[in-house]
Amino acid sequence: MKKSNKDKRNHDFIPETTLRNDLISYLRHHFPTTCRHWFDDIEPLGVVNGVLRLLVQEPVQLRYLQRVCNEQFTEAAQAVTGRLLSVRFVGDELESVPSATDSPDNSESSGDDGNPLFSEEMLLSPDYSFDNFIVGPGNRLAHAAAVAVAEHPGRAYNPIFIHGGVGLGKTHLLQSICQSILKRQPSANICYTSCSNFIDWYIAGVKAGRMSEFRSRFRSTDLLVIDDIHFLAKREQSQEEFFHTFNTLYQSGRQIVLSSDASPNDIPDLEERLVSRFNCGLVARVDRPCFETRVSILQSKAALQRLELPAEVPAYVAAKVDSNVRELEGALTRVRGFAMASGQPITLQLAKSALTEEGTSIGEAPGHPSIQTIIEAVTHYYDIKLTDLLSKRRHKSIALPRQVCMWLARRHTRYSLEEIGGYFGGRDHTTVMHAVRQITSKREQDPALASDVERIERTLLDESTSA
Ligand code: ADP
Ligand code: MG
Repeated sequence: MKKSNKDKRNHDFIPETTLRNDLISYLRHHFPTTCRHWFDDIEPLGVVNGVLRLLVQEPVQLRYLQRVCNEQFTEAAQAVTGRLLSVRFVGDELESVPSATDSPDNSESSGDDGNPLFSEEMLLSPDYSFDNFIVGPGNRLAHAAAVAVAEHPGRAYNPIFIHGGVGLGKTHLLQSICQSILKRQPSANICYTSCSNFIDWYIAGVKAGRMSEFRSRFRSTDLLVIDDIHFLAKREQSQEEFFHTFNTLYQSGRQIVLSSDASPNDIPDLEERLVSRFNCGLVARVDRPCFETRVSILQSKAALQRLELPAEVPAYVAAKVDSNVRELEGALTRVRGFAMASGQPITLQLAKSALTEEGTSIGEAPGHPSIQTIIEAVTHYYDIKLTDLLSKRRHKSIALPRQVCMWLARRHTRYSLEEIGGYFGGRDHTTVMHAVRQITSKREQDPALASDVERIERTLLDESTSA
């Protein structure tokens, strides 16, 4: 009782704009990789019963903050107010927050045994919008097709099939389509997921005898977006199921969007009837960005995070890294990390030393294990191969140790989620976040896992103190 009165009174002392400015500058200082320019639009609504409510207008941003940024904002709120607050991101209550941004929501799919069949939601990243996509010769067609589909779903090209190498913006384009449609029509029934999730859910549906639930989810959507469809290779039954899903949607004029690391004809062991379905709309390839595009991408990524770069830095980085955009971003992250660790501003000279110094590990805290040590300890403990750990294999025997690795890296090193993802075969930060969350909750529920993790941690700490 007393407490809430005090909260209200205290809150009156902090004008909202000051609070927001303090909060954002704390975040910028302590969590530069998390911050985005649109954080400026977040509006503090005041503190009630120890909870600071923060208003976020855009549903995609809201969900993203709720899932990804709670910890950082809580720390910032506590630091700037000096009080033990928690934070809650809230939307504009009048607008309904779309429940189908990604995977089916728990509420609608609680089945026979009360457990949701689809547990792993795919989160849309506000970074992956058309506004943040730089168009160049390598991706012009794919981008134009994606925009057309977002403007006229089901009527422009159906399906649209985007393929190309890793880190070239396929996922970015897929999410841009979803976000653009959701922006216009917040209640749109969209199903955006990875092919691996589709396969996992299909298997789970068969096992649990809940295929009608699975089918109603995938066949009732207005827009089906499946990332990395090449994972269907060799999966005969999943291919069969996907074929029927595809036909149902296609025949009723609903939009299908697919991405893949290879063209339909080049996906190994893909049934001929699927190859021809995939080819019947628009197939667009994304290629490596040219130098000018790489420079623009770096400038845009820096602007997104309000990172000031002297003009010669993007040019230097773009000349040095020409493989793909993910590597390009990794290089930028490295430069920024280097600047922070050394307390110097970013200059061409600093970028040069950040990108040429071999084997430096900016994310490693002194006296703490390195990611390398963590990986060695985990592969040794679970007796698995390093190549499996870094592969895309999703079998539980590999996926669990991989998640344990990510959890340990998060806990014992200073690497960001992006950097940890980079270590594990270019996975993105949401995957790492998911892993961290999974292990955190599994440790509480599963004593065997908790003790495994503890044993690995003990060897790590022994090694780093004896080193
Ligand atoms: P893919 O799915 O093809 O492996 P992603 O879509 O995950 O690649 O892209 C990897 C990273 O590169 C993402 O952070 C994405 O935002 C960025 N990226 C790729 N292409 C572009 C582009 N043309 N403009 C801006 N960012 C891009
Ligand atoms: Mg991708």
